[in-house]
Amino acid sequence: MDLIVISFLFAFAQIVVELIMQVIATRTLKFFDFFSWKTMILDFLFRWLVLYVFYAIIYFVIGFQVVDMFGNIIVFTSIFIGVVLVSIYGYALKPIIIFRDKKLSRSTNHEKTYQDILFGNKIYIHTKNFNNAYAIGILKFAKGVILSNELVEKMSPDELKGIIAHEVGHLKRNHIFKLYLAFVVAIAIGYFCSVYVFPITFAKLPIHEAFQHAIKGGIFYGVPIWIISSLTQRVLEYEADAYAGTLAGKEHIIAALNKLDEMSGGKVSQGNLAYPTLEQRIANILKS
Ligand SMILES: [Zn+2]
Repeated sequence: MDLIVISFLFAFAQIVVELIMQVIATRTLKFFDFFSWKTMILDFLFRWLVLYVFYAIIYFVIGFQVVDMFGNIIVFTSIFIGVVLVSIYGYALKPIIIFRDKKLSRSTNHEKTYQDILFGNKIYIHTKNFNNAYAIGILKFAKGVILSNELVEKMSPDELKGIIAHEVGHLKRNHIFKLYLAFVVAIAIGYFCSVYVFPITFAKLPIHEAFQHAIKGGIFYGVPIWIISSLTQRVLEYEADAYAGTLAGKEHIIAALNKLDEMSGGKVSQGNLAYPTLEQRIANILKS
């Protein structure tokens, strides 16, 4: 019973955190714009199942008591939730669930038009407008490029070619897997800090101390995840731009970035920790 409740709570917490992060990242989107309810529920059930199986294995094979685990649950399970779940579930199964979402439709027309730069990857159009494109998936049969409806409508075929080539660059160079590795490194740092630097425990602490532990735990994991993931993504964005320049023509990816900047009201120009500025990206494409 404990196993079921704990895995339920963690699966739920993860979904909430991910949704908040997605909303912060895209800003223009509302909470439930991404995918339909059916996808979210399936996503949740799969996480719950994976977590439950994981805790059951720990319980039966390694012999941890669930209650003891709760004492150190942040330390122990963050590692495994991050590493095991994100690898097994997030990278392998979740793209399959996402590609079946009714807000996405596969576009064989676009696949035909851009087949010379796709290398067999699939294209999906998202019904919502959000000035962005994504590459998702690690497994060969579950890789794809997601384009928003707005991009498809507002970009010229050449600009779209530049964008698609950039996303294909992420897929061909295994960037999703590299981002995952960066995540593992960040989690390992969080683990090191919360075990050796400042041991974090929640076992039988007064509420204000438990609160302090929670804040410290959040910082130990949150800061490395934020900085290492962002800096890794920054390097990979440069690489995908250069790849797109070679594959589809430098002028097309540059035109696409300029259009994206225009569509986003100058967000691409500004850049952030994870994305170089427009100027830096264009300079990188030209010199590659
Ligand atoms: Zn990119």
